[in-house]
Amino acid sequence: MPLAYDTPLSALPGVGPVKEKALHKLGLTCLGDFLTFYPRRYEDRTVLYPISSAPIGVNVCVKAYLTKPATLSRISGGRQVVRCTVADDTAAIDLTFFNRPYVRGSLDFGQSYIFFGKLDLLGGRRTMVNPQIERADAPKLFGSLVPWYPLSAGLTNPQVAAWAQAAVDALACPEMEFLPAGVLARHKLMPADWCCRQIHRPTGWDELRLARDRLAFEELFQLTLGLSLLRRDRERFTGLPLPDGEAAAFASLLPFSLTGAQKKVIGQCAADLSKAVPMNRLVQGDVGSGKTAIAAFCLWRCAQSGAQGAMMAPTELLAQQHYRTLSALLAPAGVTVVLLTGSQTAAEKRAIRAQLASGEAQVAVGTHALLTEGVEFQNLALAVVDEQHRFGVNQRSALAAKGGHPHILVLSATPIPRTLALIVYGDLDVSVLDELPPGRKPVDTFLVGESKRQRLYSFIDKQIAEGRQVYIVCPAVEESEAQEGDPTLKSVKTYADHLANKVFPHRSVALVHGKLRPKEKEAAMASFAEGKTDILVSTTVIEVGVDVPNAALMVIENADRFGLSQLHQLRGRVGRGQWQSYCVLVSNNKSPDTRARLKTLCATTDGFRIAQADLEQRGPGDFFGERQHGLPQLHIADLGVDVRLLEQAQAAAQTLLAQDPGLQSPAHTPLKNRLRRLFAQNALTFN
Ligand code: ADP
Ligand code: MG
Repeated sequence: MPLAYDTPLSALPGVGPVKEKALHKLGLTCLGDFLTFYPRRYEDRTVLYPISSAPIGVNVCVKAYLTKPATLSRISGGRQVVRCTVADDTAAIDLTFFNRPYVRGSLDFGQSYIFFGKLDLLGGRRTMVNPQIERADAPKLFGSLVPWYPLSAGLTNPQVAAWAQAAVDALACPEMEFLPAGVLARHKLMPADWCCRQIHRPTGWDELRLARDRLAFEELFQLTLGLSLLRRDRERFTGLPLPDGEAAAFASLLPFSLTGAQKKVIGQCAADLSKAVPMNRLVQGDVGSGKTAIAAFCLWRCAQSGAQGAMMAPTELLAQQHYRTLSALLAPAGVTVVLLTGSQTAAEKRAIRAQLASGEAQVAVGTHALLTEGVEFQNLALAVVDEQHRFGVNQRSALAAKGGHPHILVLSATPIPRTLALIVYGDLDVSVLDELPPGRKPVDTFLVGESKRQRLYSFIDKQIAEGRQVYIVCPAVEESEAQEGDPTLKSVKTYADHLANKVFPHRSVALVHGKLRPKEKEAAMASFAEGKTDILVSTTVIEVGVDVPNAALMVIENADRFGLSQLHQLRGRVGRGQWQSYCVLVSNNKSPDTRARLKTLCATTDGFRIAQADLEQRGPGDFFGERQHGLPQLHIADLGVDVRLLEQAQAAAQTLLAQDPGLQSPAHTPLKNRLRRLFAQNALTFN
């Protein structure tokens, strides 16, 4: 009787409680999980080299026989060494085995063996240390591509490979096919069970390629199909259509005139909001492109029609800033804006919750405190999420769940390459703010080493003398780490003290870091925003959204510790006013790769180009990491390289949905069930 997908791991030979725990660490919980536990790489044991022409320095298979009897000796430390010489018709190799005394008795004269190991040249002689040995007349691994699996402590590759094999043998069957026959035929894809066998025990590189591509296609197909279904579900909901407002009336509330891009996006939002289908729109715009004004417009429209709106920001600092901006903007229009954050007292929170529940307040700005139980709205018609990349899909849904099916507006300054946008935001309409407000001068960016420190300090002082303010950002480093590791790594606290007392005693220096109490953070930021502090030393808590137009210099210490997109975000904190602004990246890292990475930032201020470079250099993890939890994980597809497959998978998903919009046909039931399982974590579910 065939085993079930969810057979416990302990059913595998040799798996007891200890091994089971080690397998859990790898994310394996049942037999079926092995099917998608893919090898990281394959070792090629298909090629047999004549010894004389085998490449040096890499692992190779050679077929040879013993020419000199093996000797056993002891070396210092009591280690046992077996030495022997083997040869084929072309040349000889000296073999050395450490701590494998039994090898001496196991090599017979007149018998051929396959030796697999790294070939080296030592004093003109070929050598191999601790090669693996198989009898040439009955090889097990020779002739195959040996899979190498990710491992955790206490596990060896042969063990894991054997278990994966057992799982495949027990479970791989034609019933594991989830792709509709039409899709398989059109895209010339191999059957699922064949691919499953091939990926764990390939019969050749070509077969492996076919299997990998099909499995990657399948992942991408399911992902895009699932996202399309979520979107379709949304279209069945009815939201609250907001009657058309007077856009000019909104413009008159602003202290500036809107850019063309802002007008365009406001137009798109206005059209969305007046429909009964809830808006679900992402506004992507580089730092400083004026996304807040778009949110303000939508919140204003909402209040005009007697409904409520909420705006969620990832940090307390940012929530406070939005609160100040929005109340200044909307109060003259008779809109009551309230702030809700975790650091408020219970009494404050209670009062604000009451205002929201009664409808007395029309706009709530806050951190994820907005998501807590007990926060209820009288009539929430719009949910705005700022700096989306800081939140997961689930948090977005959780905010929306505070209303019926409210309109959703998502703002993001992380420009992500198109392929990723399709995946990550597949269920959103996208607007791009591709124009900066007038008068912005690109931020001049420099990369300097420690040797320029005195000059940097003079430059900082000169900026302050001219009336500007300065940010200095350090990676979050504990005191202990700063001393043990890289001596130039700056602990923020020590560094801020040093600057305040030794370097800039005549200037006012303040410090913000993640461990401060919210009230302290708030006070430090407020004093900087009011121009009372000249230099703000901080960790990346100021990374997102903070807006102080008089700050014209951003210094980033140990810049090599940050990702490019993150550096770009940080740089976006300056260049927001009328002044020429500067960003100085300080790094003593001499690695050419690192320097090239940082130089990218000096060469361009185009967020999309920077994001693309980041993607190429560091992979999609930063964009697609755990923050997007709620979406199924990709085990084999690689968004950095599988662009063509992604496009094909998307086309296939669209075609399928055109034929069978709700996947109602019985032929598609297995696929639909599979999607349900994959998207089970997502707050939205399929019907
Ligand atoms: P981001 O897109 O990074 O969230 P903000 O909405 O914080 O950008 O806007 C950045 C700065 O630009 C703010 O000081 C804002 O008042 C200003 N701003 C926004 N739109 C315009 C505009 N059309 N003209 C002039 N200044 C603007
Ligand atoms: Mg912003």
